[in-house]
Amino acid sequence: MADWRPLDGVDVRGKRVLVRADLNVPLRDGRITDLTRIERLSPTIVELAGKGAKVIVLSHFDRPKGKVVPDMSLRPVAAALGAVLRRPTAFAADCIGPEAEAAVAAMAEGDILVLENTRFHPGEESNDPALAKAIAANGDIFVNDAFSAAHRAHATTEGLAHLLPAYAGRLMQAELAALEAALSHPKRPVGAIVGGSKVSTKLDLLTNLITKVDLLVIGGAMANTFLAAQGAELGKSLQEPALHDTARAIVESAATHGCRILLPSDFVVSETFAPNPPTETVSANAVPANAMALDVGPATTETIIAAVKELKTLIWNGPLGAFETPPFDTSTMRLAIAVAEATAGGLISVAGGGDTVAALRLAGVTDRLTYVSSAGGAFLEWMEGKTLPGVAALAPR
Ligand code: ADP
Ligand code: MG
Repeated sequence: MADWRPLDGVDVRGKRVLVRADLNVPLRDGRITDLTRIERLSPTIVELAGKGAKVIVLSHFDRPKGKVVPDMSLRPVAAALGAVLRRPTAFAADCIGPEAEAAVAAMAEGDILVLENTRFHPGEESNDPALAKAIAANGDIFVNDAFSAAHRAHATTEGLAHLLPAYAGRLMQAELAALEAALSHPKRPVGAIVGGSKVSTKLDLLTNLITKVDLLVIGGAMANTFLAAQGAELGKSLQEPALHDTARAIVESAATHGCRILLPSDFVVSETFAPNPPTETVSANAVPANAMALDVGPATTETIIAAVKELKTLIWNGPLGAFETPPFDTSTMRLAIAVAEATAGGLISVAGGGDTVAALRLAGVTDRLTYVSSAGGAFLEWMEGKTLPGVAALAPR
């Protein structure tokens, strides 16, 4: 079971609560292009401030590599947070030292303060106990709401949790609850759809999923490697010959774990990888010598959708085709809508991964799945069955 505590019942009135957030928002020409991360953080901050805490927000931003890089300051992000929250939000130009101390000392109950980029100090990424201690000196309670940074053992994601009473924030809680419902104790049958370009980047994921799920659908270019390993003609399709043995081993291991594997039966192919070229639908074992498989075909798409309808729980990572380039988005878009419809009918659907989230957004169904993780690497590592240091450190002692 979960070994972390949510915020329920924690008395925070008058306490200095250090909230580790992920404010690493996309920025272009000094402007924030997507507020999602800020919006998802706000429930935790609103709740804590509403209960009379002094809310002190910690976050990394970009990769300053332990030095002060003015372009990577959190100051504009703090302003954006204030705008989203519609409350005054103070900012201190360092996360430790006299400036941080003075800003914290000036706080009243319900106030919000953002501290400067934690990665301006080299001790953040090296998980230096001295940095964690200096940050902890400004707090009474630690709340980690940055699941997306929990796969890193850094001073503010891991070290700090050992120095103060530590809790999961509401976003961390939602993410963990969704992932546990999908993989730790799923309603069965549970299936996973894994797509994307390479088996090599998803090896740990596939190896873990076959021990946990009843059905594994393999799509995207990584299906090419599995099919080629079984002797199919793949033409010029993207695939990884060096991983044929691995692909065969995964299929064998899946059988011993009672996991059914579903591979494509047809492909949409083209001789050129460009928007709207001439295409052809062919059998998955007979891609013409000059062509590339760029999307799974209509028969495969319908088979996958029929299989999804039999599931109670679905995990989805990786598009079924080269969805950035039409018409090779066809199967991914059709599947996204079918998953949204099945979710309305009771399916528990959890999806994650940078390109997967982009594809779901393109299909306009992000809000219609049970949970779409924006955590990227942390989502994948969790699905790979790895222990996330930032989550492990929240275990009560
Ligand atoms: P995620 O970011 O969701 O984890 P991946 O990064 O593993 O997903 O995979 C996404 C990429 O896989 C996309 O850029 C997509 O174009 C590519 N892809 C999927 N199928 C194919 C294919 N048949 N040929 C070439 N690229 C493909
Ligand atoms: Mg990707």
